[in-house]
Amino acid sequence: MFKDKKIFILGMGKSGVSVAKLLAKDNHVLITDVKCDDFDLIKELEGLGVNVIITKNQEEIFDDSYDYVIKNPGVRLDHPIVVKSKEYHIPILTELEVAYRYLPEVTIVGITGSNGKTTTTTIIYEFLKSAGLPVHLAGNIGYPLCSQLSEIKKGDIIVTEISSHQLVNLDTFKVDVAVLTNLYQVHLDFFGNFENYKMNKLRIFNNQDEKCVAILNKGDKEVYDLTLGLKATKKYFSSKGDADICIKDGSIIYEGKEIVDLSDVRVKGVHNYENIMAAILAAKEFNVSNEIIKEVLNNFAGVEHRIEFVAKIGGREFYNDSKATNVDSTITALKSFDNNVVLILGGLDRGHSFEPLLPYLSHVKHIICFGETKDRISEFASKNGIDVTVTDNLEEAVHAAYNISLEGDTILLSPACASWDQYKSFEDRGNEFKNIVSKLA
Ligand code: ADP
Repeated sequence: MFKDKKIFILGMGKSGVSVAKLLAKDNHVLITDVKCDDFDLIKELEGLGVNVIITKNQEEIFDDSYDYVIKNPGVRLDHPIVVKSKEYHIPILTELEVAYRYLPEVTIVGITGSNGKTTTTTIIYEFLKSAGLPVHLAGNIGYPLCSQLSEIKKGDIIVTEISSHQLVNLDTFKVDVAVLTNLYQVHLDFFGNFENYKMNKLRIFNNQDEKCVAILNKGDKEVYDLTLGLKATKKYFSSKGDADICIKDGSIIYEGKEIVDLSDVRVKGVHNYENIMAAILAAKEFNVSNEIIKEVLNNFAGVEHRIEFVAKIGGREFYNDSKATNVDSTITALKSFDNNVVLILGGLDRGHSFEPLLPYLSHVKHIICFGETKDRISEFASKNGIDVTVTDNLEEAVHAAYNISLEGDTILLSPACASWDQYKSFEDRGNEFKNIVSKLA
């Protein structure tokens, strides 16, 4: 707990604001950002006694009199305040670590990894909730833990997604059941190199002891090698071979017995089966029954905007994968289908190549393109002998896709581009796609 401390909060994102509100009562809190147009929020914070300073020159308002710096996880490690805090020996924390110090005795399930965090976190939460357990969803998934403290009681379970950035400043935070989904070479600009990135991921296991559990992807050599020396009890999942939970003959097998036939699982793709297997291992730590697991997987349509099943209209299945803002994510989506696909591509032009898609397009009967990249996509498709239709916007693209497709086809929005040429966010783009599809019905 924090009392009568002088606290400097860097960043007015959701997590910074929630931590300011929590600490304002008993401490001297300053929160700062380079910009904030939300005047109601500023007023609310000031009403709680928080000193709000919007400035580009944050070094000028910082000195060695602070007891703690709490930084937004995304703030770079070479930010002047971070550098100065180290010089002054001021501890740097993140919102998650602060929240942890206010928690009653609870069990924490923490999920990290390069990909699949949100999906795995959501599935674990759904399993535990359906089993009637007292569970809370928190963390990087959009609900800061600080803002939920008042609802959490002794004995509850917290399921929390933990990003690499949040792991950097975790200190005493203990994860009872930790999941590491996979390791890819991402965020290298932030961490400098892959080795640093991997070592940072290990921090999720830092405070674990033998009673804790580590759920690990055995099919990912980087994960397997990195975690061999952990203290916690290791439980493995794999889509590639034998493990505590694995895939055999079209079923998910746990401890030698079938838990679910993959044809009864609504979400698609090997990557999602991996997320599901990790989630089942976590649920089994809380003795969730196979019946509940089956029922959840039967109904779970995926996390919004991530190969999310939208509707079946005129025999065509529509999927929204608006989160696919780069070519790699679109490849993951394409690998998830084996029937005929009409693929909707396009968006912000970052000058990136579409060539890496080529090996994964054998089942794509037609590409519909829109947005800033439409002409480059059209050129790419024509050059490679793939049928293509150029449209001006998503509405035209969806109608064209419907007209070109046949019963049994999949219509997939997986744009391989960011949304900012025509939308505020990938969420906006995905929501518009779903609206257009619902009007088709
Ligand atoms: P994160 O929270 O780690 O960003 P999400 O669950 O939001 O991950 O999924 C984002 C995208 O990452 C998905 O649309 C899919 O393209 C890809 N993805 C999800 N799970 C996996 C996985 N287990 N392995 C590889 N890629 C995945």
